[in-house]
Amino acid sequence: MSVSESSLREDIVRAMQALDARGLNRGTSGNVSARFAGGMLITPSGVVASALTPGSIVHMPLEREPEDEGLRPSSEWRMHGGLYRARADCGAVVHCHSRHATILACAGRGIPPIHYMVGVSGRASVPLAPYAPFGSDELAGLVVEAMDGGFACLMANHGQITIGRTVARALAVAEEMEEQAAIYWGTLAIGGPTLLDEGQMAEIFRRFGGYGQKR
Ligand SMILES: [Zn+2]
Repeated sequence: MSVSESSLREDIVRAMQALDARGLNRGTSGNVSARFAGGMLITPSGVVASALTPGSIVHMPLEREPEDEGLRPSSEWRMHGGLYRARADCGAVVHCHSRHATILACAGRGIPPIHYMVGVSGRASVPLAPYAPFGSDELAGLVVEAMDGGFACLMANHGQITIGRTVARALAVAEEMEEQAAIYWGTLAIGGPTLLDEGQMAEIFRRFGGYGQKR
């Protein structure tokens, strides 16, 4: 196994365990993948985060299930594969049922421009992909469509999904989306948010361009 493959497998295990430890996911729900060697490395179906090992991560093609006798991939492999095929800039995918993102998704809401950190999603607001059953081709298509040019979307009556160049980045976006979902949910409880306007969000994206350490 190459160094890059083993470190990606470790990144995926660490991300699943971080989601669990930070209360963003529970049990066997949620899944994480990384693009690798023309296909992807993805969490197996039905294994709790604490029991995952780098060796239990499944290597598979983007468009069909693996034929070997090993562990089955996550039942959501179609939406992971669809995102890699649609987005050349997608190196990793994180999907989870974090509580506040799921509350909004079950109420038929995305996240509007309530705070500048919504911009971490790559857009001024986070869209909601329409409902389709988990694991279906239909859901994969709806998620790819809703993701469009952004890095995050909510999934109706289900949860949230994020992408990034790396597993760490997709995980960071998922954590921020949960925080923004919680803030939006909180504002709805006290009369609703005051939204940022288009010009204010455009200014935020200009500032994001110069944000962070220069070296
Ligand atoms: Zn799910």
